[in-house]
Amino acid sequence: MPDQGCAHIDAIDKVKQAKRRECEDCVKIGARWVHLRTCQACGGTRCCDDSPNRHATKHARGTGHPVISSAEPDERWLYCYPDDAFTDY
Ligand SMILES: [Zn+2]
Ligand SMILES: [Zn+2]
Ligand SMILES: [Zn+2]
Repeated sequence: MPDQGCAHIDAIDKVKQAKRRECEDCVKIGARWVHLRTCQACGGTRCCDDSPNRHATKHARGTGHPVISSAEPDERWLYCYPDDAFTDY
């Protein structure tokens, strides 16, 4: 991984991919999502900030899990919340 001053992203050697192409929290409440993000700490997949419920960000803030990847098939990037660091892989 390129050095962006983020130890969280530097520590990732294999990017976790979405197990299912759905937001696990939206599914529970019957909500809809726009894009999907996968937590690199626990592998959970949740919805992006363009989605009404912003579950990926809520999960990161609630758990302290720092890094998400895009779960969109044509996107390959990681984002770290505490460092506000964004990197392609
Ligand atoms: Zn970081
Ligand atoms: Zn959601
Ligand atoms: Zn997580």
